[in-house]
Amino acid sequence: MKLKVKKSLNYSKKSRDLKNIKYIIIHYTGMQSARESLKRLIDKKNKVSCHYFIDRKGEVLNLVDDNKIAWHAGKSKWKREKNLNDESIGIELQNKGHFKNYEKFTNLQIKSLIKVIKRLMKKYNIKKYNVLGHSDIAPLRKLDPGENFPWKLLSSKGLSIWFSKKKERNYELKDSQKRVIFFKNIFKIGYRYFNLSNRNKGDVRIIKAFQMRFLPKEVSGKITDKTLHISQLLAK
Ligand SMILES: [Zn+2]
Repeated sequence: MKLKVKKSLNYSKKSRDLKNIKYIIIHYTGMQSARESLKRLIDKKNKVSCHYFIDRKGEVLNLVDDNKIAWHAGKSKWKREKNLNDESIGIELQNKGHFKNYEKFTNLQIKSLIKVIKRLMKKYNIKKYNVLGHSDIAPLRKLDPGENFPWKLLSSKGLSIWFSKKKERNYELKDSQKRVIFFKNIFKIGYRYFNLSNRNKGDVRIIKAFQMRFLPKEVSGKITDKTLHISQLLAK
């Protein structure tokens, strides 16, 4: 695999032990072009970066060494972890993003991404359930990589989780009951930033984050029976 190196200075001074790397976080850049994205990820005044950047032709650039903590995730939570930068490798994919002109990721981009993830998983013994999107760990703030990202394809290669298809069912439950079951399920999966006992205005964003990942054609922010069902299958 071609791997160009272009260094960013946006990382923490202190190096980390490589055995602390447990997660891979996938992002899109949300910038107009690869050139603009790289400029942003390298410029010291922006205080953002990632370890790997993949442009739309599938070219991979290494911006920060794996043993450095790059600044890609920001405030984030997953299971018991907070601030996932410390324990993760961040991969940015060039895509204009939801606020500009959200594109499909290119085949070349995904092909390269798969190679990078495979290599990292092997090198650091990263589990497939720890390959996550930015919106999974920061659902109130982030939409990337979004519903165009091929999570199902990744899972077919053993690089992320998916659910086994089971016959759908109708849940004859009140909305409030559905809410409790759904959020209990996704808490088990790892999602945070909600309160099991109280509705919150952030709930819709969290439901959407879950749907962008597992039900990308139906990102409604509503706990439909299908949404609930998939959360049940995943929580098992
Ligand atoms: Zn991101």
